[in-house]
Amino acid sequence: MIWTKVRAGLQYRVISRATIVQEKAVRGVAFTTLDVDTPVFMTYLMDRLREAGVSIVRGCVLHINQLIEGGVYPFTGEGRPKTPDAIVCCPGLGARTLGGVEDKDVYPVRGQTALLRAPWVRFGIGKSSNKGEGFWTYIIPRRSGDVRWFSLRLDSWRILISLC
Ligand SMILES: Cc1cc2nc3c(=O)[nH]c(=O)nc-3n(C[C@H](O)[C@H](O)[C@H](O)COP(=O)(O)OP(=O)(O)OC[C@H]3O[C@@H](n4cnc5c(N)ncnc54)[C@H](O)[C@@H]3O)c2cc1C
Repeated sequence: MIWTKVRAGLQYRVISRATIVQEKAVRGVAFTTLDVDTPVFMTYLMDRLREAGVSIVRGCVLHINQLIEGGVYPFTGEGRPKTPDAIVCCPGLGARTLGGVEDKDVYPVRGQTALLRAPWVRFGIGKSSNKGEGFWTYIIPRRSGDVRWFSLRLDSWRILISLC
């Protein structure tokens, strides 16, 4: 319901070539959208789960059969092994190696993030390559006055900080 109300106020327009600031850019769009401050939102969601009595168990799963056969028992040692009614498996990049899943089509999106204190920035701006390099960089302001700078590169396993 909230989304329906918000969507009515969202805008999207293509920026004409003549007014694009970036010299080499071939096209641009301007839009308004929703942005979620994820650390705040994730904490809120976790609190709601706890309030609803959900228990969180952390463990490293080597093969999905561990869960199918024993549920969380192998990780808690409490109660008895029990086949769960359902398993929702969302291992992200771990899907490449998780036994029983092994999805080799999954690849990393390498991201670098910096938080800047810049309350005067009230809109985001982004830039991406359409030449297959899979490069994307943008800034997004938060309500707190912080601005997130991100730089993303597709299918990169580098773990060291770099300028691109
Ligand atoms: C730099 C960067 C910035 C981003 N910023 C935003 C943003 O501002 N807002 C936004 O909405 N999205 C953002 N994203 C995208 C967002 O982070 C991902 O879309 C999201 O995290 C995917 O969630 P997921 O639960 O599918 O996977 P993940 O977050 O990767 O979670 C997978 C989980 O599974 C666990 N796991 C994997 N294998 C195993 C195993 N064998 N046993 C046990 N556990 C396992 C991992 O430890 C991990 O906790 C960003 C991404 C990047 C790279």
